[in-house]
Amino acid sequence: MIDPRRKREKMVREQIEARGVTDPEVLRAMRSVPRHLFVDEALQAQAYEDHPLPIGHGQTISQPYIVALMSSLLQIKPGVKVLEIGTGSGYQAAVLAEMGADVFTVERIKALYQKARQLFSNLKYHYIKTKLDDGTMGWHEKGPYDRILVTAGGPDVPPPLVDQLEDHGILIIPVGASKRSQKLIRVIKDGRDTKQDDMGSVAFVDLVGKFGW
Ligand code: SAH
Repeated sequence: MIDPRRKREKMVREQIEARGVTDPEVLRAMRSVPRHLFVDEALQAQAYEDHPLPIGHGQTISQPYIVALMSSLLQIKPGVKVLEIGTGSGYQAAVLAEMGADVFTVERIKALYQKARQLFSNLKYHYIKTKLDDGTMGWHEKGPYDRILVTAGGPDVPPPLVDQLEDHGILIIPVGASKRSQKLIRVIKDGRDTKQDDMGSVAFVDLVGKFGW
């Protein structure tokens, strides 16, 4: 592929900055993570285009803008502990790790889990912790987390995720009463209360599990 660095530069300028994402650390991470290595070779030429791409098993790597949007909504600072549900290709986890987050990521499909682990090792993201499991249950032993990100859409916010969120922590999750169309919800925990905001419409693959579809 011809000069992925230039393609990333163009992607950040035209798809991400142009839509109003300004967090310099998000922009820096998206300029550095080699997104083309997170998709199959046959799709690498399309890796920096403005849409999601298939990664097998009926799943997708999200559109670059959506990864940038969610990363900026999470307000990542170096050292924050982040739980991601839905490792998929591993791209979102790599972007968060590039921003200095301490990333824990859970995937339910074994083949994707194994592939992402291999990629993290090849790209030297040794500090990303991975688990094969139903992520609607969270990852209790490692919690609580400052931030939780769900990259698949479910019918509701899974209660274990709210339980495993630190006080004043932020949880971002696509929620929708029907499949393939959701609202991106931001949950902020405040003691025993939570505050929820609608951050706009999105379309994610299904969150499948005990507290999913
Ligand atoms: N963050 C990913 C997006 C992958 S698509 C990326 O950057 O590529 C969503 C992923 O969520 C799929 O891989 C799917 O298998 C996974 N998923 C769906 N329900 C899940 C659950 N309950 N626990 C863990 N992973 C789940």
